[in-house]
Amino acid sequence: MFDYLIVGAGFAGSVLAERLASDGKKILIIDTRSHIAGNAYDHYNEAGILVHKYGPHIFHTNSRDVFEYLSNFTEWRSYEHRVLASVDGQLVPIPINLDTVNKLYGLKLTSFQVEEFFASVAEPKDYIRTSEDVVVSKVGRELYEKFFRNYTRKQWGIDPAELDKSVTARVPTRTNRDDRYFTDSYQAMPLHGYTRMFESMLSHPNIKIMLNTDYREIINVIPYGEMIYTGPVDQFFDYRYGKLPYRSLEFKHETINTPLYQPVAVVNYPNDHLYTRVTEFKYLTGQEHNKTSIVYEYPRAEGDPYYPVPRPENAEIYKQYKALADATKDVHFVGRLATYKYYNMDQVVAQALTIYNKLATRSKSNYEENGHALAVTAT
Ligand code: FAD
Ligand code: UDP
Repeated sequence: MFDYLIVGAGFAGSVLAERLASDGKKILIIDTRSHIAGNAYDHYNEAGILVHKYGPHIFHTNSRDVFEYLSNFTEWRSYEHRVLASVDGQLVPIPINLDTVNKLYGLKLTSFQVEEFFASVAEPKDYIRTSEDVVVSKVGRELYEKFFRNYTRKQWGIDPAELDKSVTARVPTRTNRDDRYFTDSYQAMPLHGYTRMFESMLSHPNIKIMLNTDYREIINVIPYGEMIYTGPVDQFFDYRYGKLPYRSLEFKHETINTPLYQPVAVVNYPNDHLYTRVTEFKYLTGQEHNKTSIVYEYPRAEGDPYYPVPRPENAEIYKQYKALADATKDVHFVGRLATYKYYNMDQVVAQALTIYNKLATRSKSNYEENGHALAVTAT
């Protein structure tokens, strides 16, 4: 008898498996895929190069708790991410910074002057609501069109004016020369890769792993106490309120017979091609190899669900599913798909640790009240 059936072996499921197992709970963690680590899964390809199967995963966080927690399972390699955008025939830094403007327009502005430049082209808004508002109100329409409009339409299949402000607000605007994609206090990659880190998290005698299996195949066969569900929330409830839109991607991996392909880890293509960006993995991993592996990301409406789509009508649908989820007492919904949140890895880890603390506190108070641990019943 398992205390918990955990559906999904990504960050959400694996963190909870590890925490609960360390408290003595018996865990069955299950995934439809043939591997652990969810979307963070990495592996050595046929050329022997470490690649991320589901696109580039760069770890960054401001949370000391999250970083210290994951440090129990991996050593780290310091890595600060840099991205260039291919615009008007040049490769320029994104997030837009002082160098971006100077290079694009052949200018020699100072930080102070570029601030004045942004102020002169920005379109002030009383209320920032959409992903268009965020950018246009900071850097004006021309830069918005060069860097954001078409990339966003390609990535999401809708115009930035129809997407919540939180989407493009992920990418800041700078007036200095800082060309890092992130400014978090912790920026590092697991030294031996994500999958190795997950293997370490899940290597506990109380954790059994079952791969290539949908939880619906086993829930009536294998007894368990409670469920932790990290798959798409609408699917769990058989799409009772309709489908929640998730955006998908197709990844085209390639290995090239040259040591280096592009000048930085990621090049974004806002205006050209059907793909959004090209990632060269050796920058992320620091691996040395005489060949190099890259991945192209082609946005898709259908396919594996990768991104919740933040916009008001979807938030309304999710609200209905959340009410159902809250009323389903023996199932805990955690992670990017189950809570329909555009979360980075560290946010999912933080969310999972919070849920764990709630479960552990509940279990402790039950113990104190009843003199025995919470009884778990088979469903
Ligand atoms: P997932 O990793 O999706 O895990 C859920 C698991 O549940 C999956 O393995 C799935 O197979 C399984 N599952 C679903 N349904 C069932 C079922 N019925 N039965 C059994 N198993 C099931 N974050 C960052 O911090 N930095 C980045 O650079 C970054 N880059 C990203 C790039 C891309 C292209 C994508 C798509 C995401 C990126 N992320 C990044 C986000 C990151 O992938 C997520 O935050 C994180 O992986 C979410 O973890 P999770 O456990 O919630 O979900
Ligand atoms: N974005 C853009 N142009 C860029 C980079 C980002 O328009 O060059 C927008 C786009 O809508 C994208 C969002 O900003 O989906 C968030 O970008 P991020 O790089 O954080 O996306 P992720 O890595 O999550 O796919």
